Amino acid sequence: MTIALHGMSVSRGIAIGNVHIIERDQPDIREYKISKSQIDTEIRRLEEAISNARQQLRAIRGHIKESTTADIAAFIDTHLLMLDDIALTQEPKRLIGELRCNAEWALKLQRDALVNVFEEMDDAYLRTRKDDVNHVVDRIMRVLLKQTPLRHEVPDSRLTGYIMLADDLTPGDTVLMQHHGIAAFATEYGGPTSHTAILARSLGIPAIVGLHQASRYIREEDTIILDGILGIVLVDPDKNTLAHYQKKQKEEKRYYLSLGRLKKAPATTRDGITINLQANIELPQDFDTVREVGAGGVGLYRTEFLYMNRQAPPDEEEHFNTYLKVLKILDGLPLTIRTLDLGADKQVDGGRQTGPVQSNPALGLRAIRLCLKEPGLFRPQLRAIIRASAFGPVRLMIPMLSHLQEINQVLQMIQTIKTELDSLNITYDHNLPVGGMIEVPAAAICADMFAGKLDFLSIGTNDLIQYTMAIDRVNDEVNYLYDPLHPAVLRLIRTTIKAGNRAKIPVAMCGEMAGEKRHTQLLLGLGLREFSVHPAALLEVKQIIIESNLAELEKMARKVLFSTSGAEVAMLMGKTGPAKN
Ligand code: PEP
Ligand code: MG
Repeated sequence: MTIALHGMSVSRGIAIGNVHIIERDQPDIREYKISKSQIDTEIRRLEEAISNARQQLRAIRGHIKESTTADIAAFIDTHLLMLDDIALTQEPKRLIGELRCNAEWALKLQRDALVNVFEEMDDAYLRTRKDDVNHVVDRIMRVLLKQTPLRHEVPDSRLTGYIMLADDLTPGDTVLMQHHGIAAFATEYGGPTSHTAILARSLGIPAIVGLHQASRYIREEDTIILDGILGIVLVDPDKNTLAHYQKKQKEEKRYYLSLGRLKKAPATTRDGITINLQANIELPQDFDTVREVGAGGVGLYRTEFLYMNRQAPPDEEEHFNTYLKVLKILDGLPLTIRTLDLGADKQVDGGRQTGPVQSNPALGLRAIRLCLKEPGLFRPQLRAIIRASAFGPVRLMIPMLSHLQEINQVLQMIQTIKTELDSLNITYDHNLPVGGMIEVPAAAICADMFAGKLDFLSIGTNDLIQYTMAIDRVNDEVNYLYDPLHPAVLRLIRTTIKAGNRAKIPVAMCGEMAGEKRHTQLLLGLGLREFSVHPAALLEVKQIIIESNLAELEKMARKVLFSTSGAEVAMLMGKTGPAKN
């Protein structure tokens, strides 16, 4: 009998294959007492295990392919750094001497203490750092206990094409998976912002997280279908289901290949309106993809990644040089640089606040609020963006605006910087467009006021939906309410577009909704003429645009605004014949 398990899709695509389960038995760690004369020997045993674990991680790092994204290497580097941290190198040694206990027990006590500290943090991102502690300690522990490496940890070409199932994965696992040619993976835990999710997207293989209870229903070597589009795993599929998915998989491949022909085609609708289709970028390896997919520019450059895995924030020159690098690659295409959006789901090390943990970080000091409170953090970035504008078509975009006063303050800071640059004879674009993200209902409702002050607006639906529906976007318990088609969300989008049209300024959308091809026609009907999407989604969206007739869609969208549910919206839009797949 086929069993269907539901999780959260974090990387699209379909995989069919046999399962390999990564089972990390929790070792039974016992305490035993040692004599005073054995203390040095026990400490040496611990030191050797740490050194051995370090060698293992370095070897894994050596396997990282050139083409792999930098964040995978960064995760491994974080684990290597942890192996040098006194919390792991010194504290367990102190415990061995003080308690006269074995190295395993001392390490376990220290792990429990560290995990407790992380678990008590309110901040979702920091809580997930306890996984890093567990992964690193497990590695040392396995060496101490002389356990043999797991099957996927040694080169084994027989794992090629397998689908990995684990409770959670370490960054090292994901590197090895790439090495083995793994087809897909699923984990029982983890949310969309967990390391696993980020890595899956970087590896570009289908993946599902939060597949609770999966190990109860899936056995080693079972044949499964992992549908990374719907976020489901089908265990032991019958002949018909298998045949259906094999066909779907082939169609998917053919479909993606066929999209290649659209790279150079203009995103023009059947009734002759050209839509501005741009790309969202984050990591340096995304920079080239903008041109590869034929995007019209960058509608959202998330700069938080400049602050990742480091102690101090980047200085003005680092910002400036990075922006110049992107401008050079874009070679004349517009670049919309979003100023720092730290806080809530986006926690990084560099520039992080050390103040008390906020009890409700999504509603707290994040994005522009943090920047205005910390001009020392914000000013170098603003200056760098303004200076970079002399070298290409740059636009500056402010995240998470909720109050006109915030716009006034930023504009004032920009003016002061421009005066400074003038006095130093440093050139910049005097007409540098300054825009704002509409991500908070207050901003959408007052979009007319915001539009009066800004040169462009961009709707950030990831946050706009979170704040409209009052659900934490990283909490999988309330994810079912994350509904882009909720009438309240659609009305706020419409209000924003209308406000922009009246003020004669462009309105874009850069949230995930813009890259979901099932919403493209609805958004066109609501009047959206600028989309900024993940590069991987750009051609799919272009295809739908090319097939669309705006006059028809606008008629349909007027009805949609009076729908009472997302399901009704979907049904209405279905009548306009949205594209398959
Ligand atoms: C959004 O909120 O829709 C958005 C694009 O910003 P981010 O996902 O980076 O918060
Ligand atoms: Mg946002």
